[in-house]
Amino acid sequence: MSKPSVFFDQSSQTLLSRLIRDNVRPYWKMVVAALLCMGVSAAATAATAYLIEPVINDIFLHRNGLLLWPLALAVIAVFFAKGAAEYGDSVLMSRVGLSVIADMQNRMFARLMDQDVAFFHHHRTGRLLSRIINDVQAMRNAVSSTLVSFGKDTLQLVFLVGLMFYQDWVLASFAFVVFPVAVLPVVRLGRRMRRVTANTQEQVGQLTTYLEQSMQGIRIVKAYGMEHYEVGKVKNLVGVLRDLTFKAARVRSLSSPVMETLGGVAIGIVIVYGGMGVVDDPDKAGAFFSFITALLLAYRPLKSLSNLNNNLQEGLAAAARCFELLDAQPTLRDVPDAPPLVVREGRVTLENVFYTYDGSKSVLDNISMHIPGGRTVALVGPSGAGKSTLLNLLPRFFDATDGRVLIDGQDVRSVSLASLRSKIALVSQEVTLFDDTIRTNIAYGRFGATDEEIEVAARAAAAHEFIMALPDGYDTIVGERGFSLSGGQRQRLSIARAMLKNAPILLLDEATSALDTESERAVQAALERLMCGRTTLVIAHRLSTIMNADLIYVMDRGQVVESGNHEALLATNGLYAHLYALQFADDAVGVLREEQ
Ligand code: ADP
Repeated sequence: MSKPSVFFDQSSQTLLSRLIRDNVRPYWKMVVAALLCMGVSAAATAATAYLIEPVINDIFLHRNGLLLWPLALAVIAVFFAKGAAEYGDSVLMSRVGLSVIADMQNRMFARLMDQDVAFFHHHRTGRLLSRIINDVQAMRNAVSSTLVSFGKDTLQLVFLVGLMFYQDWVLASFAFVVFPVAVLPVVRLGRRMRRVTANTQEQVGQLTTYLEQSMQGIRIVKAYGMEHYEVGKVKNLVGVLRDLTFKAARVRSLSSPVMETLGGVAIGIVIVYGGMGVVDDPDKAGAFFSFITALLLAYRPLKSLSNLNNNLQEGLAAAARCFELLDAQPTLRDVPDAPPLVVREGRVTLENVFYTYDGSKSVLDNISMHIPGGRTVALVGPSGAGKSTLLNLLPRFFDATDGRVLIDGQDVRSVSLASLRSKIALVSQEVTLFDDTIRTNIAYGRFGATDEEIEVAARAAAAHEFIMALPDGYDTIVGERGFSLSGGQRQRLSIARAMLKNAPILLLDEATSALDTESERAVQAALERLMCGRTTLVIAHRLSTIMNADLIYVMDRGQVVESGNHEALLATNGLYAHLYALQFADDAVGVLREEQ
């Protein structure tokens, strides 16, 4: 292990070098150009301090008129060079910083999209959002301040200190004894800073999650009159955040008075010592003022270097969280050289399947099931029985904890994920529409489908007519969360999506919320067209679906307790008969009437 530097501990160094290696290296040319600009600006700064000497001695003391114009022009040239270099440096650094952010955001989002569904059960959305938005920003600040400090501030100090030693080395050595004394408390402050900031970002994530949930659940909030409760809850979170941020600000501000006081002492000493020299020899005045100017100019980069540690610790804490997300490996991946799934009949078999979310309670408890190809099998059972969990095993949103899921004899874990998912369509009661056009939303079923294919799918899903009635037809942008569409319309869009995908296996999670009769009928007819000729596994809530199913599996507490068709199950007089009596007896009248 290498000896830790005064500024950074081991973990900071590792983080920083990864940050530079992964994120800054692609832009090294721009960084080099920016460093050159910083070098020019640093040299120009020292030159201004240097020019003070001839100005004082030649012009003010010796009244040498010949040098008046050249010196004035030199000052203008130096300031111009400094200005131009600083422009270049700041433009280049912004470019690098923003590119670092953009790259990182893209990589993080791509990584997130690769994660298993289970990952999103374990991580709150708000916290993930906060990493992609806030932490990345803090990380950029760390990158920028490091580069600027090492480039501009260090170079400026080198030039200015060089000048000070050139003008009066005794005085210079003396002034700089104070520096190490100043650094120590500042380093200690930096460590405290990192701890406080980690908590702050955590709190920002929590707030984002909560805000998001309250807004998404606005109808529930209003229906239960919980506005005050929500406002109070957010007020608490905001309060905690304010206190934490304030704590960080206090720690940060503390480095200022420490530096100011020490700076004041250094300048005071210089004035006394240097002033005595000038009293003896007036020609020393130029050098003295040049020295004082250099010292005053050195104060800013020194202060900013001392702040570097604080900024850096803040940024590194954020970078650590970003890397954690980037390094999270999806557990569900293809086995090496996984062949594609080949579907012939579309037969699905579950063999002694177990599943547990938490490692203790089996949500699926030794399930064996056979779903013949091209047929419709209904899953029925009380809520919490494990029906959705079972459905999720087919496209491998989760893997069975034990047992096997087979499609036409092929274990879903042995074939490539992409081929498996391309053969399965999912229509869920929770319809997800994206903030995009209707056309793109349907094309989600099969990207690259032609407009004609999309329209054919929409017609088959009984969606074409209402789409044409929308302001821009297929080009209408679905409103945020699709509120402008009715439940039945949203359902039909998701059916169109599945139609377009045209997969041999269909997973259906029937909507429980009541649609109006007309919508219900349109959705039902579209679904029947969709199910035709496909293996369909449906979590059934409607009696008509159940009665039309070729086979019904009745589930309870993670087990299959009965199976058979409607009549056979009724005759058994078990759980199904009980559920039927409770839930469906009323519907039965409607179904019978429709069938007549
Ligand atoms: P159903 O679809 O029959 O209502 P689910 O499959 O949704 O049943 O749920 C079965 C059981 O698994 C329930 O006890 C539920 O609480 C639990 N469960 C569902 N999803 C999760 C999850 N993401 N994490 C932990 N437990 C879960």
